[in-house]
Amino acid sequence: MKQDSTQVLIVGGGITGLTAALFLAQQGVNFILIEKHKGTSIHPRARTIDIRTMELFRGLGLSEELREGGKALAPAWGILRGINLVETLNTTKSDIIGNANFPKQFAAMKALGEKSPESVCRCTQDISEAIIYQKAKHHDLRFNHQLLTFQQDENSVAAVVKNRETEEIYTIQANYMIAADGANSMIRKQLEIPLAGHGAWMDLLNIYFEADLSTLVRGREFSQFLIETSEITGFLLAINNADRWTFHLRYDPEKGEVPVDEILRKVIGIPDLKMSILSILPWQLTVRISTQLRVNKIFIAGDAAHTMTPYAGKGANAGIQDVQNLAWKLAAVLKHQAGDALLDTYHTERQPVGAFYANLSGEMADKNGLIDESKMMQYGEKLLGLPDYAYDSTAVVRPSQLFRGEPGTCIPHMWLEDGSSSLDWVKGQFVLIANGHFEYWRAASKLSHIQVKLVELPANEPWMTLTQATPTDAILIRPDDFVAARLNALHPCEQLAKTIKKICSLRNI
Ligand SMILES: Cc1cc2nc3c(=O)[nH]c(=O)nc-3n(C[C@H](O)[C@H](O)[C@H](O)COP(=O)(O)OP(=O)(O)OC[C@H]3O[C@@H](n4cnc5c(N)ncnc54)[C@H](O)[C@@H]3O)c2cc1C
Repeated sequence: MKQDSTQVLIVGGGITGLTAALFLAQQGVNFILIEKHKGTSIHPRARTIDIRTMELFRGLGLSEELREGGKALAPAWGILRGINLVETLNTTKSDIIGNANFPKQFAAMKALGEKSPESVCRCTQDISEAIIYQKAKHHDLRFNHQLLTFQQDENSVAAVVKNRETEEIYTIQANYMIAADGANSMIRKQLEIPLAGHGAWMDLLNIYFEADLSTLVRGREFSQFLIETSEITGFLLAINNADRWTFHLRYDPEKGEVPVDEILRKVIGIPDLKMSILSILPWQLTVRISTQLRVNKIFIAGDAAHTMTPYAGKGANAGIQDVQNLAWKLAAVLKHQAGDALLDTYHTERQPVGAFYANLSGEMADKNGLIDESKMMQYGEKLLGLPDYAYDSTAVVRPSQLFRGEPGTCIPHMWLEDGSSSLDWVKGQFVLIANGHFEYWRAASKLSHIQVKLVELPANEPWMTLTQATPTDAILIRPDDFVAARLNALHPCEQLAKTIKKICSLRNI
């Protein structure tokens, strides 16, 4: 049997697996990605890329392309409710329909915008996956290849893979494997990882269809239209505000065939509406949380780690943020710059974040399984914004008091004179930001066992106010933009070398 080998095997070419490929490539790690389907997903699914994820895409050079790709959807904001779309748009007061008329949301977005060089982006997943794929395609991406089974020992993982085109069965030997194989993850099942969370509680059909509603909707764009009648319960989602829509219909799989065309005409309120069904995908409202994200050489990420309802808009975002956290750690260990215990911090840091969003997404569903608008108003701003959590693991050296720029939190954004952001310093490497005593920090950064980029920021008032730094302080940032530690100029060489070794779980400190 043919045997290939690589440092990291990524299983799954959805949005989590594809971004894992880009983050590993950024770190210079060798990998193979396998995906059982022939191409990226044609289903629009996720539509909102939050600010933090946009910051990550900025680091990969993709944020502008994603914004451009999603521009047709961009004006779609707000939730409507009624018995059909035509009647609802005609009878709802014009001052609450249309993108210009959501002042509260837009004021909140503007305020959020000041904390980041990026803003929220609307872009459907069929488009975002295709954009990410284009950037990753020069690497070893094997679509139409399926993982059949695997085993691991203390040194590596051996995966049995089927090339679905040729029917050839072969093995891939890898130092590590990332399970980005989605909600029904066979890897998670084979590892028998215990699950937490509510489980599945409702069946829906995701009906993706084409119908020209541009005249009806122009100037009155909306994000979701909720419908609950004696016959139909579901929600219509805007995809391009013109001729692409999805309707998510609550249904009972036991009851057999669903008259999809008839239902869609009733939802829209146009009995002779011309339309064509593009695809139908059954899915379940589910909250399922993997209680373990690492099993020896295997790491669980994305929906495989935390399946959630779409109502918090975090599924894809959380998956992308998982693999960004993991990639630099795998790279540091593979380059023998960090100890194995650094990889344990992937679980310590990301499992609670995924669990939090998954549980919140469940809370945001009402008794009929639709989004609870009051919860959306309550949490909306928080969900679109920057992370308001801080990591607490051995990959962070934390002091006792809380402030911005505190270890465990994300680096604060500040605009620089050349129009770039403080976030742009990082891009996948360790960065040390010093406010004075540069000659000491220069010497210190050269002595570290891992490459550290030094940023010299002489007496920068806004930065020092933002982070409460002093001229003798330096802030060490990890390759995933999170603050690793605060250092002072007393014994800088010894301090920096020791701190980085501690973060990298190297024992000889
Ligand atoms: C209606 C709806 C709206 C949503 N809206 C949002 C939103 O606004 N924001 C947001 O962040 N999220 C949203 N989500 C959630 C988002 O779509 C998912 O969280 C995201 O797709 C998860 O990506 P993933 O790559 O982890 O998993 P998946 O997309 O499921 O990808 C897993 C991949 O693994 C492959 N695979 C599985 N088994 C194997 C195997 N044995 N061998 C090889 N390949 C395999 C599969 O074919 C698949 O391509 C929404 C979801 C839905 C249904």
